[in-house]
Amino acid sequence: MLINHDTRCALDRVVDLLNTAPESEGRERLDGLESLRDFVARNRVSDVGRLAESDLPAVRAVRARFGEVLTATGSRKAAALINTMVAEAGTTPRLTDHDDYDWHVHYFAPGASLAQQLAADGGMALAFLVVAGERDRLRRCAAPDCRRAFVDLSRNRSRRYCDSRTCGNRLHVAAYRARQRAERSETKQVVTGAEEDQGADHPEKHHERRLGEREEAPTGVVVHLVRGLDRS
Ligand SMILES: [Zn+2]
Repeated sequence: MLINHDTRCALDRVVDLLNTAPESEGRERLDGLESLRDFVARNRVSDVGRLAESDLPAVRAVRARFGEVLTATGSRKAAALINTMVAEAGTTPRLTDHDDYDWHVHYFAPGASLAQQLAADGGMALAFLVVAGERDRLRRCAAPDCRRAFVDLSRNRSRRYCDSRTCGNRLHVAAYRARQRAERSETKQVVTGAEEDQGADHPEKHHERRLGEREEAPTGVVVHLVRGLDRS
């Protein structure tokens, strides 16, 4: 997928914004001007003037729009939502080479509010995803107890978890332990602690093979394998 640096940054902002919502992490993380300033700082949003109380509900409203795009069934519905969002933000493409960056396009109009800026640049980034037929790369984590949003930029669109080092590993380890329990209960004769195997049955290999994820290798997990002597 051809996705330029600015689109990537805009998508990261959309994801971070979505994950401030109660739907993602169970609590409102944009709960005041201070948290809004934190959002601006960690996403390095430029051209933001002094933030006012009124910016807070405006940004939350844009966040709700992104949430609708995320859950929209079908590209037609998503396209309509995106069109409305970028139109209302007064989206105005313009070439710029600010701060020693090479020429690139900003989509927010000069003097746009933070909410308008997020809606214009984020909306356009989502528009490019729709054009590329890649809208489903914006998705929610597959962990049952996690609703965080993320953008899957992997080549084969195989990413399932928001952060492979936490949700991915957590689930892999849980699945491994469940398989171990199942194997134990199947086994007629059990010798407890008789053997420790770091070879063919090493958990990391199970994870790679069974779950098809490449980047996640559980770290710091010590598993004592309990093997049956007679499986026939
Ligand atoms: Zn997750």
